[in-house]
Amino acid sequence: MARPRGGVEEAARLVARAGCVLVLAGFGVGGCGPRVSLDGFLGDPLGAWRAFAGWLRGVRGARPGPAHYAVAALEAAGVVGGVVSLCPDGLLGAAGVRGVVELHGSAGDAVCVRCGRRVPVGEALREVEAGRVPRCPCGGLLKPGVVLYGEPVPEDALREAVGLARRCDLVLAAGPGLGDYPAAQLPLIVKERGGGLVVVAPGVTALDGLADLKVEAPVDEALPAICEGALGVLGRGGGCRGP
Ligand SMILES: [Zn+2]
Repeated sequence: MARPRGGVEEAARLVARAGCVLVLAGFGVGGCGPRVSLDGFLGDPLGAWRAFAGWLRGVRGARPGPAHYAVAALEAAGVVGGVVSLCPDGLLGAAGVRGVVELHGSAGDAVCVRCGRRVPVGEALREVEAGRVPRCPCGGLLKPGVVLYGEPVPEDALREAVGLARRCDLVLAAGPGLGDYPAAQLPLIVKERGGGLVVVAPGVTALDGLADLKVEAPVDEALPAICEGALGVLGRGGGCRGP
């Protein structure tokens, strides 16, 4: 069934009217990273690291954009109950968002598949550049600190995300990368309790069929406009487009 499509004004009104907004952020550097499976990584760790290396370097040089600052401004204004990030590039935190649940891990780390130890990703990348598979002092393989396909998401982060979904009454889901489970279950939890879902993305997403409102636009344009509209309704703050 086709869902209503609307503009930022309607989205802003829904955000302003909500008691607690859960932001589901599926936007970031380079489509949030290469799609590598855990099995693919274990079968060819050096090849997988090489697939990640360019993206990881891009993340290290990246700065937050207007969409990241819009989320930070909504949080600072007390509108947002929590932010679940599906992009492990760390840019929401860099924009000043405090309550980020990193559901898909962190690009800043490498993690040992045997003992779970985390080390700065730069150390692992130096090994990759030298043509060696990066290893932990325990002898285990180091993998990128992002959640790979077929790999479970971190339990603590999932528990926190589900807790947010149980107490918020609107999901503002933004970006092209929204379809992966278990993140895609969060809007269901909110909707089952009578809450709403606004999807902001330039194209089709897996959540469109569930949305009460779809704003079909790039997140860097739409989120700052929604932020300004919502804060205007509430008569609060600013900074929706960053410093
Ligand atoms: Zn280890």
